[in-house]
Amino acid sequence: MCHYSFKARFIFPVDRAPIAEGVLSVEGHHITQVARRTKSAVWDLGNVAILPALVNVHTHLEFSHLPQPLGNPGMCFADWVRAVLANRQEATGPEQSGRLSGPSPVVRGLSESLQTGSVTLGEVANTAWNEKDFEQVCPTGTIFFELIGLSETRIQELISTVLELIAAAKQAPTRWQIGFSPHAPYTASGSLITQVAKLAAIHKFSLAMHLAETRAEIDFLREGRGPLRELLEERGVWNSTCFQHPLRALDYLKILAEAPRALIVHGNYLDQEELQFLAKHSETMTLVYCPRTHAYFGHSPYPLFQALQSGVHVALGTDSNASNPDLNLLTDMRFARQQHPAVTGDQILRMGTLHGAQALSAADRLGSLSVGKRASWIAVELPERDDPDPHDLVFQSLLPVSLVVVDGKPVYAQGKMGAFLKKWREEAGTG
Ligand SMILES: [Zn+2]
Repeated sequence: MCHYSFKARFIFPVDRAPIAEGVLSVEGHHITQVARRTKSAVWDLGNVAILPALVNVHTHLEFSHLPQPLGNPGMCFADWVRAVLANRQEATGPEQSGRLSGPSPVVRGLSESLQTGSVTLGEVANTAWNEKDFEQVCPTGTIFFELIGLSETRIQELISTVLELIAAAKQAPTRWQIGFSPHAPYTASGSLITQVAKLAAIHKFSLAMHLAETRAEIDFLREGRGPLRELLEERGVWNSTCFQHPLRALDYLKILAEAPRALIVHGNYLDQEELQFLAKHSETMTLVYCPRTHAYFGHSPYPLFQALQSGVHVALGTDSNASNPDLNLLTDMRFARQQHPAVTGDQILRMGTLHGAQALSAADRLGSLSVGKRASWIAVELPERDDPDPHDLVFQSLLPVSLVVVDGKPVYAQGKMGAFLKKWREEAGTG
């Protein structure tokens, strides 16, 4: 079995403090040692940081072909949803057939994720996905099948689909787990969410749901009025019997808490009581912060510090190219570091690695550089300067991920790591 040791200016194991001039040792697919020194021969990677591979817990890869976010920064959210729906229709319409060339948006998104260091994703998919794409390009994650339904007929159809997908996943498990994502409180009825949460508890799968994303959503839940109701009426799907106003995000949190794992996506406008609820359920519920998407809509400041202070379990997502220029989670981590100076670099690193792995039920093998875990790690170029907090060498910098290793195998390199990758592959006999 191949055994390698890699030395770096800093290693960030995440389960303990950063190690200067650290050495990561790997045998086959697994980590065997993380130490200051080792007796075995090492490959010195130089002025880089070795981090666990990143975990991006919220993507919609169907939009990965978009050259820029839809609409304009700060636009009305309901108008942005209209733009998303129009784009989706365009992408799947008959006039589009034959016009798309090159890899599919999903494959593009998976490749971009991998090349920027995210090797585990929480992907929301709303059409039949090609399992091979996911397995071949990106090693692991959870595909959350999106559920949108307000009418009784639609709800019954969706529940049948959920049961079919669960049966298929049990029969032929893949490296990608299946989960379900009731889209949002204004597009998925309380009855649908309740039924899916009960099934999640029985069949042990995870849920993800957009919640408390906009002020308009909070107002809609309370009063049943506003731009989101207008949007539903315009699309002919408004069903007043679905909603017993006044409602609030807490009502949905209580339903989602039944699932063995639930990702609460955005939560931009959760109040203190709701954050406390999440803190109380931090073993099974994760708040998902999408830093640059949050900024794109010009929301009120994100309650990240308050959430962390309260004990909420927080992970990070990029969301899609419809609201974020790219899928580079490291850029989102750096952006979050800038936006929230009271939140430490160590906390940001945890949110982008271990917390994400926990949220996707993958922390037994990923998310930290711990002995026995999979050897999935990245190297990030570091600036020449020193910093009292080594995390800021990674986060107060624009230097890229230059090497990505999955399960002990190098899968991507750029810059000077290109030559190193060649040497490594030659030595391993795979060059
Ligand atoms: Zn989303």
